Amino acid sequence: MDSNIDNRTEENKKLAALLFPDVVNTPDYYEEKFPYRKLPSKADVTRMAPSPTGFMHLGNLYSALTDERIAHKKGGVFYLRIEDTDEKRKVEGAVETIINVMRYFDIEFDEGAGFDEVDGKNVYGPYFQRQRVEIYHTYVKDLVERGLAYPCFCTEQELEAVRNKQDADKVLTGYYGEYAVCRNLSYDEIEANIKAGKEYVIRLKSQGNPEREIKFVDRIKGEIHLPENIHDIVLLKKDGVPTYHLAHAVDDHLMRTTIVIRGGEWLASVPIHYELFNILGFKMPDYGHTALLMKFDEETGGKRKLSKRKDPELSLDYYRKDGYHPYCMKVYLLTLLNSNFEEWRDKFPDKDINEFPFSVEKMSQSGALFDKDKLHNICKNELSKLSEDTLYEFLYSWASEHEQEKCKVWFADKEKMLNILRLYMGVGMKRRRKDFIYARQVFELISYFFDIEDNSEKDKFRLDKKITDNILKEYLETYSHNDDNSEWFNKLKAIADKFGFASDMKAYKAEPEKYLGNVSDVAEVVRIAVTGRANTPDLWSIVHIMGEEQMRERIEECI
Ligand code: GLU
Repeated sequence: MDSNIDNRTEENKKLAALLFPDVVNTPDYYEEKFPYRKLPSKADVTRMAPSPTGFMHLGNLYSALTDERIAHKKGGVFYLRIEDTDEKRKVEGAVETIINVMRYFDIEFDEGAGFDEVDGKNVYGPYFQRQRVEIYHTYVKDLVERGLAYPCFCTEQELEAVRNKQDADKVLTGYYGEYAVCRNLSYDEIEANIKAGKEYVIRLKSQGNPEREIKFVDRIKGEIHLPENIHDIVLLKKDGVPTYHLAHAVDDHLMRTTIVIRGGEWLASVPIHYELFNILGFKMPDYGHTALLMKFDEETGGKRKLSKRKDPELSLDYYRKDGYHPYCMKVYLLTLLNSNFEEWRDKFPDKDINEFPFSVEKMSQSGALFDKDKLHNICKNELSKLSEDTLYEFLYSWASEHEQEKCKVWFADKEKMLNILRLYMGVGMKRRRKDFIYARQVFELISYFFDIEDNSEKDKFRLDKKITDNILKEYLETYSHNDDNSEWFNKLKAIADKFGFASDMKAYKAEPEKYLGNVSDVAEVVRIAVTGRANTPDLWSIVHIMGEEQMRERIEECI
């Protein structure tokens, strides 16, 4: 492909002036205004470039974490650019949402949309594409002058007729070669069309050859061969706003991006971008096209793409609403991103995860499988490593945002909450417990400590009502709050003996048929009555955190 085409004929210059009467700058002006960044060697510049719809999904976080790691690993820059060329998709407050959501997950931008220009930072903007129209026009004007872009007046109907003809002829559909009828309009024809008020787009005059291919190394997918682009793709739409292709080339060039990480759906467009960078005289950035996020589909037993409609867990809001700890999310995403992360983490459990030698090359090439059970296991592990104070702070801040009324009750007595957390985390025990997954689940698990309406599911008694009631009544009668753990347990044993349960496990194992059950069945009755759950940490400790009064209330409700 010849990038040096410079057909600055008088006619082309006249055409450029006709199409862009308002453009005063030349590309050189912007090249100088946005010089290469002064960064440590090997440092990369990456960006996140979302549309301002405000909908942030797991895929965004997945790419953002990749970008952030690449940039910050070697002292580079990670910035936020807003691709707002599609007015219809814009949502108020979306930029704040994007920054806040990313911040929640501990991902910070260094510059870009939403940041002020301080100390010579944030000078590669504007970072909203709608505010960059003048820049795009400058570059397209230059292309028109060089005979590499032209206005196209074809209507939707005309384009459809071309497509139908191509279908009938069984040739590639699109606007190219002989089918690109506006390619060869003369200056006079163009001027007449404009005077007649006809609408037009500006197209690239592609120099590609279908017989040739481009070759490049995608940082994630490896070496890729694709045929050259031959389509006269649209650069500027009817309203003068750029297409993704043009904006990507101009912005990533002028903002000096060194690696573009983006969804795999863009891979097929690389030949277009290759041609654009080439004819605009820009150095190509590296590309890394990410794998789709997949999930296991119970219906079909296979893998499928996560869908916005079917899978609420695709939305990042989902994790905030339920109170997933952002650190757990980050650890989980790192295991998805780099398969050697887990091994590294096992080897260096105390190192900061930001020290992990993240590598784009090790990212999954095909679909990355999102697995909620795995996420939950990671949450259990990571939460169990926190101190009870840190967990307390996290739960408090989640509750004060998402459950304001209940929050007052849960946190009315700080020492009580801390004691519950200590008990549930197994603080001071040989092995930490791993019951906690995310904030909402934590509060469901410990709900019985509080007098709040509670819809969490209760475990059912396994013994019949009469025996259950007898056990509970006897328990209340013999209960003394001053008993220590072993005195308390001896009383349970006495209850067991009284009602035909084995208090001695050996005896029970030898002749189980002689008994209704054993002492652990008796303990279970009390446990379910007090907590609503068959599985809890040490019951004596629970009773001593909640106090005698609350314990008696819970049991009396059951009888
Ligand atoms: N706005 C594009 C998208 O959301 C950005 C793709 C890119 O990162 O270049 O798909």
